[in-house]
Amino acid sequence: MRLSRYYLPTLKESPAEAQIASHKLMLRAGMVRQQGAGIYAWLPFGHRLLKKIEQIVREEQDRAGAVELLMPTIQQAELWRESGRYDAYGKEMLRITDRADREMLFGPTNEEMITEIFRAGVRSYKDLPQLLYHIQWKFRDEIRPRFGVMRGREFLMKDSYSFDIDADAARRSYQRMFAAYLRTFARMGLTSIPMRADTGPIGGDLSHEFIVLAETGESAVFCDRQLLDLEVPGADLDFQGDLSPIMDRYTSYYAATEEKHDPAEFEARVIEGDRIAARGIEVGHIFFFGDKYSTPMNAVVAGPDGKDIAVQMGSYGVGVSRLAGALIEAFHDDAGCKWPISVAPYHVGVVSLKAGDEAVEAACQKAYDGLHSAGIDVLYDDTKARPGEKFARMDLIGLPFQLIIGPRGLADGKVEVKRRADGERWDMSLEQALDFISAEVKAGLAA
Ligand code: ATP
Ligand code: MG
Repeated sequence: MRLSRYYLPTLKESPAEAQIASHKLMLRAGMVRQQGAGIYAWLPFGHRLLKKIEQIVREEQDRAGAVELLMPTIQQAELWRESGRYDAYGKEMLRITDRADREMLFGPTNEEMITEIFRAGVRSYKDLPQLLYHIQWKFRDEIRPRFGVMRGREFLMKDSYSFDIDADAARRSYQRMFAAYLRTFARMGLTSIPMRADTGPIGGDLSHEFIVLAETGESAVFCDRQLLDLEVPGADLDFQGDLSPIMDRYTSYYAATEEKHDPAEFEARVIEGDRIAARGIEVGHIFFFGDKYSTPMNAVVAGPDGKDIAVQMGSYGVGVSRLAGALIEAFHDDAGCKWPISVAPYHVGVVSLKAGDEAVEAACQKAYDGLHSAGIDVLYDDTKARPGEKFARMDLIGLPFQLIIGPRGLADGKVEVKRRADGERWDMSLEQALDFISAEVKAGLAA
């Protein structure tokens, strides 16, 4: 992509309405534009980030054996009356009426709808387990939308739903999602900590929140430092195998949000040097809730003896749009964003130091074409802005690599490569630079 043809409305100053780094930087780097309280338009650069996050979430769901579908944002109130949640959900639900005065709502979650879809198509225990997911916009009329996309009213969520014949099988589905979540966040460069949680309005028996540590996080968290060093399951993990050891290992360490925190237990279970009392961002939340929806909504299958059994269900959410903010909280400095390669909207920024100079333009074009054909996402700053302005903008948008090409360097057969993560710089030939960047990006994507 050529920057001269792109829409990247960057800002030099932090807008006054933003309190935390991620919100400031998302506005400054031209990623989002507010359209109402807790409602954001995703501008081209932010949209690419969102798509990269979404794709990692999708790949890990697919790997875990979940099957993607897409449910609508608008739902019928009738469905929610079946579960009893239409009245219970309260003011967070955005209620709408259509022209025929039918009561509708903008879905805050999809347990009812997926249960309806399941019961329409599955009749026998032989068709279980089922694990379905979608990635769709939700609306919750939060009392206090804040911190930009971190607590929006309209936000993008991945939500999965499992259907099993009994509680043991449901637990296995839960463990699959537990392991998939560890991998999902690790691929984004984030260390996530699963914490026992309350089940809230979703209801049920077993629940974990996945928290990433950040100073500006909304949740107070207490945990054992050793949790941060556990090895995350690799890409070769067999999701059909026994995943209970993974969950057992993680849950054997102390980890609690404020509500569940017990200072006495914390002291008894964690040696002083390993006690972490910090703040974190909830990026995922998984629930096992048995027959809470299947019984009232009559989602039953015929068991081996022919008798109907209400299925055991779980639901599993990832805050896809919240992750955009969480990633910036984790990866930024005073100058701007510092994207991990796996989620970077573009991997490389090619910076022309002299637009209009024939040799510089030819070298930039060669770099652009070479990287692009190697499958690398390139943003080419071909604008006429001053070099200082270009450098500041590149640092602000935080692409993992900058390839800086100017007339003086070219005369010596050199270009400059800068790695945004640590600021390291190298002078090398253009060919070497292309090989180096390609190798680094491929290694980053494979990690
Ligand atoms: P929270 O406790 O942060 O209000 P929740 O427990 O109500 O979230 P869930 O129903 O568990 O949320 O939703 C699954 C995931 O969706 C959460 O873990 C979070 O990452 C994300 N999420 C929930 N509410 C919002 C929101 N208002 N804005 C952005 N993301 C959200
Ligand atoms: Mg939650």
